[in-house]
Amino acid sequence: MSAGGGQVVAGSFINGEIVTTAGRPFEIINPATGAVVASYALATPADVDAAVAAARAAQPSWARAIPAERATVLARLARLVAENADELVDQEVSQTGKPVRLAANFDVPGSIDNIDFFAGAARHLEGKATAEYSADHTSSIRREAVGVVATITPWNYPLQMAVWKALPALAAGCAVVIKPAEITPLTTLTLARLAGEAGLPEGVFNVVTGLGADVGAALAGHRHVDMVTFTGSTAVGRRVMAAAAVHGHRTQLELGGKAPFVVFGDADLDAAIHGAVAASLINTGQDCTAATRAIVAQPLYDDFVDGVAELFGKVVTGDPHDPNTDLGPVISAPHRTKVAGMVARAQQQGGRIVTGGTLPEGSGTFYPPTLIADVAEDSEIYRDEIFGPVLTVRPFIDDDDALRQANDTEYGLAASAWTRDVYRAQRAAREIRAGCVWINDHIPIISEMPHGGFGASGFGKDMSAYSFEEYLTIKHVMSDITSVAEKDWHRIIFAKR
Ligand code: NAD
Repeated sequence: MSAGGGQVVAGSFINGEIVTTAGRPFEIINPATGAVVASYALATPADVDAAVAAARAAQPSWARAIPAERATVLARLARLVAENADELVDQEVSQTGKPVRLAANFDVPGSIDNIDFFAGAARHLEGKATAEYSADHTSSIRREAVGVVATITPWNYPLQMAVWKALPALAAGCAVVIKPAEITPLTTLTLARLAGEAGLPEGVFNVVTGLGADVGAALAGHRHVDMVTFTGSTAVGRRVMAAAAVHGHRTQLELGGKAPFVVFGDADLDAAIHGAVAASLINTGQDCTAATRAIVAQPLYDDFVDGVAELFGKVVTGDPHDPNTDLGPVISAPHRTKVAGMVARAQQQGGRIVTGGTLPEGSGTFYPPTLIADVAEDSEIYRDEIFGPVLTVRPFIDDDDALRQANDTEYGLAASAWTRDVYRAQRAAREIRAGCVWINDHIPIISEMPHGGFGASGFGKDMSAYSFEEYLTIKHVMSDITSVAEKDWHRIIFAKR
């Protein structure tokens, strides 16, 4: 399956087979051109039932495979993804409009590294030592797979989000049913096909591509899954959690963000300016950790605003398949309308548009790099997730004010502090309420370290050994070692013999 031809493809992968489901036809649109990349039949709630049943049937023997066997299959998958990198890059660029440099240097290699990491993690089950914690018993810990995991992913990093969720689950011995965003399913379907080629048993990894309101809701609230993991918006995440709570199922939520980018008075201004441009425009700003709220020491404020505006003016916007392109379109026309509306209201609420903010002519859902200074703390643009190439800037008067502003949000996914003072850096790392605090950088991630938020950004971790733990249960096995029929503790319950 290759993107670009507008061909009809199968949208689901159930029990080891590529499946054309019975829902209505749905078109995947290239946001850079408006052309149809491919079309497929949507999945239905009945397909969710079939996928969950396949996963339930396949999961016990996958969990019984020894860790080395699971690791071997997953390592093979990493190699196959590497061998098919060009196809995956092409699909990712066509369905999301992200620049090819990003897909080829971040999305796909990051996914390969993450698959490799979890292949290794499969062999690293951890727990307390087996020992006699009571004189009469030996206690041991078993780490067991949670079971069948329902996964729902967004459109901004389709392959990486599928990998972040599915791979730790598969490494732990779980079976997965994943629902990708309906507008960007291609790379998740390719991943499923490659997982089959790598030797993953039928039914262990299933994809149902349908709409959130029916297929997503059916999966999130399915009685026969054991856990629901979700990456997407805070509003939908809360609905997913409520649906899973009906059955008391375990949940893990990676939600929206509103990352502060705090530039202290002693910062390397040039580094902060370059960092702000890269961190606010990555993936056309459609990144949950993107820098969206620059909070800058008053003495540096004007120079920071001028420096960012100058670099925003040099950003090359255009065809995402062209390696010279820095910035692609936003994901869709409705999303561009939302971003443009927020920028318009920001002006009405006192924000000063320094650069950008006007819709370009021509096809494609492009939106220019936009810098808005002097935004009010209670304005929508400062409070709500924008998810576009828009950076807001506010000054601060002292360190207390900087950290207060950084934490003045319901979100808590990521943040950065820019300073050459080690004590300031340590204070920012300690006091900023976010799942990740970068010092003198903003965006880099690595497979060994966790990603996940606080507050309205969700809970639980993706990537790293912490994420592997999400998909494991802890079982205590306590064995009598006395062989005595009438044990001392029985006398607490019935004293007379
Ligand atoms: P979204 O919440 O609209 O959709 C996410 C997924 O949920 C899609 O597959 C969608 O079809 C599905 N869905 C929609 N309604 C549903 C329902 N009622 N029940 C079950 N599933 C339903 O998010 P999006 O627009 O695709 O992605 C952007 C959002 O994702 C942003 O808020 C961004 O911050 C967030 N995000 C977070 C992280 C993170 O790691 N924290 C990473 C990437 C994206």
